[in-house]
Amino acid sequence: QEDQFKKVLSHAKEYGYVFQSSEIYDGLSAVYDYAQNGAELKKNIRDYWWKAMVQMHENIVGIDAAILMHPTTWKASGHVDAFNDPLIDNKDSKKRYRADVLVEDYREKINEKIQKDITKAKKRFGEAFNEEEFRSTNPNVVRRQQQIDEITAELKRVQEENDLEGFRNLIVDLGITCPVSGSKNWTEVKQFNLMFGTQLGASADSSTLVYLRPETAQGIFVNFLNVQKTGRMKIPFGIAQTGKAFRNEIVARQFIFRMREFEQMEMQFFVKPGTQKEWYEKWKETRLKWHLSLGMGADNYRFHDHDKLAHYADAAADIEFNFPFGFKELEGIHSRTDFDLSQHEKFSGKKLQYFDHEDNTSYVPYVVETSIGLDRMFLAVFSNSLQEEALENGSTRTVLKLPAVLAPTKAAILPLVKKDGLPEIARNIVDDLKWDFNVVYDEKDAVGRRYRRQDAAGTPFCITVDHDTLEDNTVTIRHRDTMEQKRVKIEELSNIIKQEVDV
Ligand code: ATP
Repeated sequence: QEDQFKKVLSHAKEYGYVFQSSEIYDGLSAVYDYAQNGAELKKNIRDYWWKAMVQMHENIVGIDAAILMHPTTWKASGHVDAFNDPLIDNKDSKKRYRADVLVEDYREKINEKIQKDITKAKKRFGEAFNEEEFRSTNPNVVRRQQQIDEITAELKRVQEENDLEGFRNLIVDLGITCPVSGSKNWTEVKQFNLMFGTQLGASADSSTLVYLRPETAQGIFVNFLNVQKTGRMKIPFGIAQTGKAFRNEIVARQFIFRMREFEQMEMQFFVKPGTQKEWYEKWKETRLKWHLSLGMGADNYRFHDHDKLAHYADAAADIEFNFPFGFKELEGIHSRTDFDLSQHEKFSGKKLQYFDHEDNTSYVPYVVETSIGLDRMFLAVFSNSLQEEALENGSTRTVLKLPAVLAPTKAAILPLVKKDGLPEIARNIVDDLKWDFNVVYDEKDAVGRRYRRQDAAGTPFCITVDHDTLEDNTVTIRHRDTMEQKRVKIEELSNIIKQEVDV
């Protein structure tokens, strides 16, 4: 798995998908740039989402709110007071860690030990091995499981009570050592707000502290009534948005999985109080269907229902994806009650009520939201698509099997040789197709090598112009995934490509 992740990182760089930000200055931690192919893939994912959510739903409209918002927004939303991570420093190494992550990692390590015991026992007992029985009777495993349960319960308690000393006690009692130095010399635990702040205004004394938004949702809540009135929207209806969000993540690791600057694709769906449960279930189902429509394998998704709910939610679930480092959150579906709109009413003094003509009542709507990280979706698609295949002739090929609808380049047009008028015909095909699709022209190297290059870059089709083309206006079209080649008429190309890449 680790190997696969390393391959993902180097492939993303080598084929122009993702670069580290400001690489010539050794980069900026947890900030990344999308390169020529990455920008296209990212745009295609965003468009695929927008089409499914906005274009296909009569009762959902899209907006594009500003990143900077009035600072009171974040008071009302709870982010100024509660968007914190508990941090602890190691006195010897001077390194900073998230206290909860240290404890979770420790718990994970005990779990790994249990797994090792099980694997060993499986080998020893063969067919006769019964995991359930082994777990409940083997003294080592029983003791370790007890320890996990105790840590889990105590972690939950200190998180819920925001008990900073409790965090520290856990770390000290468990004897957790600093991952880089092995030292056990920890400071107190402090709360650290994850929002990036900046100054609005020219002079130091008249400037105001504003924040870069840590989520796009609030831009929708504050515009709720404007959109409802000007769009004459009737409940239930949704407002969608894609855009940048910023979080000063402490443990920023796993490439574009957790970034400090990232993009969200969110939809807030406004419903009548009392109907939220029904809509929550419906959106869970609808969003999973969206993921499955990309054909990346139903086994790679699962729901994780939250027991521990955020202060604003009455139900929440994640859609988890099988990343190269295991199942992790890809998207969240949250039933947010009327928390946000009521808070904005309170802090702004403006009414944010909806008048329901059907039964002549006014109320603050409840909200069910779907929230997915565009970069995280990018990583899911990219890592799932990167495959190495053993070929019949004994060699292997690296192929990026991106869903055709998302691929940055839909077709590469290749003249077999650089003479006899073949390049001119190939250029004409490019000029024709580029009105509808992103296509590239490539005449360098033997055609086999050009195929491999396009396979690795994720291009679904290669179109080869050869000497027969001069005779009958046909070309060879090669399919990336099956490597099948077919002879077709030049006029048919556009339709063949369209069939694969249109949704
Ligand atoms: P996590 O538990 O992984 O930190 P979260 O529960 O805080 O995520 P939400 O606030 O629900 O995440 O944000 C919704 C979505 O935004 C997440 O499902 C994820 O896809 C994406 N997301 C959140 N934080 C980041 C980040 N730092 N980098 C990239 N994507 C992110």
